[in-house]
Amino acid sequence: MNKVRLLTPGPCPVPSRVRLAIARPVIHHRSDEYHRVHAEVVAGLRQVFRTSGDVFLFASSGTGVMESAVVNLLSAGDTAIVICGGKFGERWAEICKAHGVIVAPVDVDWGKAVDPASVEKALVEIPDAAAVFATLCETSTGTKTDIRALAAITREKRAVLVTDATSGLCVSELRMDAWGVDVAVAGCQKGLMLPTGLGVAVVGSAKARGLVEKSRLSKYYFDWKAAGAAATKNETAWSAPASLVIGLKESLDLIMAEGLDAVLARHARLARAGRAGAAALGLELLAKDSPAEGLTALIVPEGIQADALRERMAEQYGVLVAGGQGPLRGKIIRIAHMGYADALDVIAAISALEMALADLGWPVEIGKGVSAAERELRNQAGS
Ligand SMILES: *Cc1c(COP(=O)(O)O)cnc(C)c1O
Repeated sequence: MNKVRLLTPGPCPVPSRVRLAIARPVIHHRSDEYHRVHAEVVAGLRQVFRTSGDVFLFASSGTGVMESAVVNLLSAGDTAIVICGGKFGERWAEICKAHGVIVAPVDVDWGKAVDPASVEKALVEIPDAAAVFATLCETSTGTKTDIRALAAITREKRAVLVTDATSGLCVSELRMDAWGVDVAVAGCQKGLMLPTGLGVAVVGSAKARGLVEKSRLSKYYFDWKAAGAAATKNETAWSAPASLVIGLKESLDLIMAEGLDAVLARHARLARAGRAGAAALGLELLAKDSPAEGLTALIVPEGIQADALRERMAEQYGVLVAGGQGPLRGKIIRIAHMGYADALDVIAAISALEMALADLGWPVEIGKGVSAAERELRNQAGS
């Protein structure tokens, strides 16, 4: 028997209650039954995004709703400031360029968090910039962005702040309305504990609605005006992924039963335990100054091949973790503790990590990482 623990930063494990809900008979997407669940899901999403804004659902992965933000907010020839500190920041830039938007990148070393002052400087240099594109959790490096500080800057400016919250929602703090985040998008396969295939876009401010009115980029499936008209009837413009929406209702119920603040605190606790375990093994954290709560990215020690390490963890111990992307390929491993994750998932990850390192000949003291992670978890529990 090979029991698998999926500890990758997307997709993430799905609780059985959610899986069972998705397995219910298919319902029609123009029925009262669908209208009810759509309304409940929109209300729940407003709570987790902490917004009273407009919520649109799409049958799409996270990248689809990212593209929807670009094509609904901008026009060809507009300039967008894009924070590029990893694969997902670069994705914002690529989508903008694909649609004829001029990209002014704010380049950040991968693993570092953007200095909000550099975004402010870019906005002073490009006062007519239409948007700033940011990533709450840059999943390729395990770095958290200070969205609150960025929103405090864009609030005073013409540009809207657009946040990709895919791996940060229900994991790291995000307060759209209180902070002044104009637009946020997310795929639901991470902190929202769903299989991939449901994307959410949230328009939270009058400034963003003004851009939607003016936008001239081509769109059809992802047209937010069509989505808005359908939303007034608790529907989507095109066939809703109704089974996933039903699953999301269940996820949101689980999150609300635990309490959103408790959910965020759990992620912070798991992240601290993961970091303590890794440090005890002598492994270096990639994102030292601003590590995300949802995953821990670790630099693979010299003499160890990242792919061999991941393969050993998966094949011998059933623990699936992610490797590095782009320039970090072969240099890091990424352990997720995101969504449906608990203390023993982190212990399993650290245990598999230290055993696999020992198997590959790296000098680790077996049990040292697990011991440090357990001590961290028990400290935090107040024992
Ligand atoms: C996972 C992820 C996405 C979504 O990517 P898809 O593969 O299109 O679902 C987008 N942004 C971030 C930050 C992510 O972690």
